[in-house]
Amino acid sequence: MSFSKLGLMAELVRAVSDEGYTTPTPVQQQAIPVILEGRDILAGAQTGTGKTAGFTLPLLQRLHARKPANNRNPVRALILTPTRELAAQVAESVNTYGKHLPLRSAVIFGGVSINPQIAQLRRGVDIVIATPGRLLDHISQKTLDLSQVEILVLDEADRMLDMGFIRDIRKIIALLPANGRNGRQNLLFSATCSDEIRQLASGLLHDPVHIDVARRNTTVETVTQVVHPVDRTRKRELLSSLISSQNWRQVLVFTRTKHGANKLSEQLGHDGINSSAIHGNKSQGARTKALADFKNGTVRVLVATDIAARGLDIDQLPHVVNFELPNVPEDYIHRIGRTGRAGNEGEAISLVCIDERDFLRDIERLIKHEIPKVVIDGYAPDAKIAAEPIFKQRQQRTPRTGSSARNSRPAVSGQGKNSIQAAQKPTAKQGSTKPRGASAQQPAADLRSRAQQSRPAQRPAQRRSGA
Ligand code: AMP
Repeated sequence: MSFSKLGLMAELVRAVSDEGYTTPTPVQQQAIPVILEGRDILAGAQTGTGKTAGFTLPLLQRLHARKPANNRNPVRALILTPTRELAAQVAESVNTYGKHLPLRSAVIFGGVSINPQIAQLRRGVDIVIATPGRLLDHISQKTLDLSQVEILVLDEADRMLDMGFIRDIRKIIALLPANGRNGRQNLLFSATCSDEIRQLASGLLHDPVHIDVARRNTTVETVTQVVHPVDRTRKRELLSSLISSQNWRQVLVFTRTKHGANKLSEQLGHDGINSSAIHGNKSQGARTKALADFKNGTVRVLVATDIAARGLDIDQLPHVVNFELPNVPEDYIHRIGRTGRAGNEGEAISLVCIDERDFLRDIERLIKHEIPKVVIDGYAPDAKIAAEPIFKQRQQRTPRTGSSARNSRPAVSGQGKNSIQAAQKPTAKQGSTKPRGASAQQPAADLRSRAQQSRPAQRPAQRRSGA
């Protein structure tokens, strides 16, 4: 199967082959012909599957085929993304794949001056790639007109809902021209499929084609997963030791909170490991620099929170470490999707302490298999240490000018009676884990605890504690 067989024009095939891609990925094979036909799609595609090219290539072709004769460039395609990083990366793809076509695009996100964006929009662009907040700022300032939009893409829609953007999305959709046959084309991409996504899709999509490349809520097959049980106070020491002893050159590390990301990055520095933190409290300039330094190898470890890491596309990232497990199980899938991208092998390592037993159980339920537990020599958890509750604070989002409040979900608190199950032993199915250290083959340390008294009970399904 080649790109030209999918019905793509020569200019696009050339741009793709300039990138060294010869074979379309499954999501590209399925999505490209359908989008070229003008159909709406609902795609369950994880990050790393090649989904960006899957919608960008046919979008460019359709826009080019119907380019208005006059020199005016009304915005005809709108791509919404949850984060600035993802917007920047999608914009890069639009430029890369569209380099042989005379289409113009602009990327619109907050955290940077609005004026250059206004100037660019005034000159006329065919495609806008935007995060919802800044887009609404432009709309309220009347610097952007969406009345000519022919194609709408919601990329990583699940994450947009998770970040509380639903009201903004609805507001934006209300400003677009009519939906339906011969009307606007809608492409919705989501890694996971919740009731909220289904609801959004049913109001937005017209007779959509369903595309599901990687089974929903499953983890990327090329990623080797392992849990290293360890005491909460020894995680940093273990991480430094793994990085040094395994000579990891490029590792993305996840923490639950912004504060935790800063602290860990600082501590790694003390251990002589060059690292940067990336999270929502950092200026856009600092985030861009941290990412660039990480990509070019100046920085060995990038410590990130879930939201900040969303959309990071780093080629062949070999190692992802969950320094802390996410409290939203779906985030585990998103996190480990940073490695093993586009067919490359990757390794996802989770450092799990007794406090995180429930998080681990929820993740294993979601991905429908156990993750092998491997105790690293010298880091076996101390059986005398009891579990402590992990307090999860709701992140408050401050409404920005021109956009609706994004703090849509109330905080949930509660003390629980969830029973704690024993740590499961790895099964033969997960035999792919590479053992590490002299006693790496030891059975899992039992993470069972006296946690019953201390765990929050009604674990809200979708809550995060930091960006
Ligand atoms: P995405 O899922 O869109 O974030 O893409 C993941 C990665 O796959 C990106 O680095 C793309 O550049 C790369 N990629 C996209 N299409 C292909 C392809 N057909 N073959 C190989 N790599 C690709």
